[in-house]
Amino acid sequence: MNPDRGGERVVILDRDGTLVIDRGYLADPAGLEFEPMAADGLRWLYSRGYRLVVITNQSGVGRGLFPLRGVIEMNARLHAMTAEIGVTLEGIYFCPHAPEEGCDCRKPAPGLMLRAAAELGFDPRCAVVIGDKESDVEFGRNSGAATVLLAANPSGGERATAADFVAPDLLAAARILTSTRV
Ligand SMILES: [Mg+2]
Ligand SMILES: [Zn+2]
Repeated sequence: MNPDRGGERVVILDRDGTLVIDRGYLADPAGLEFEPMAADGLRWLYSRGYRLVVITNQSGVGRGLFPLRGVIEMNARLHAMTAEIGVTLEGIYFCPHAPEEGCDCRKPAPGLMLRAAAELGFDPRCAVVIGDKESDVEFGRNSGAATVLLAANPSGGERATAADFVAPDLLAAARILTSTRV
């Protein structure tokens, strides 16, 4: 973490298992449903001035499980869901490729972070990545960002993580960010 960061506070959110319930290659916008405490976490951060961006792997497209249009529709639904709770997402970036395509935008590669940073105007080193997989943590570290891993039982201790923080849900993660001024 960079203690010299300016006023810029950007949170990069994973989608499945972080913002919404992970239904495994979800193809239907109607299946999007906030994870417990996710709406509260979003409101907590947004009301305190954090900029919110979603970066998600949607390899269901590359695997031929659903069309690109499905992701576009799910993105629209996610924007609508957040608007309903008074929160604005600045952007939703996704990688549509299958792992074997070897693209540079599938997390943990930093491609989408660089693109979001260039398009939205922020320094990845001043961002915090929140996700439910170690690949999200790796993505954050590859981008120079701070990281929070969402894990149901963070005190379990069995799971090794390179994350800066571990939290049980998005609201808990949000409270960590504000209390540590990340
Ligand atoms: Mg996830
Ligand atoms: Zn990709």
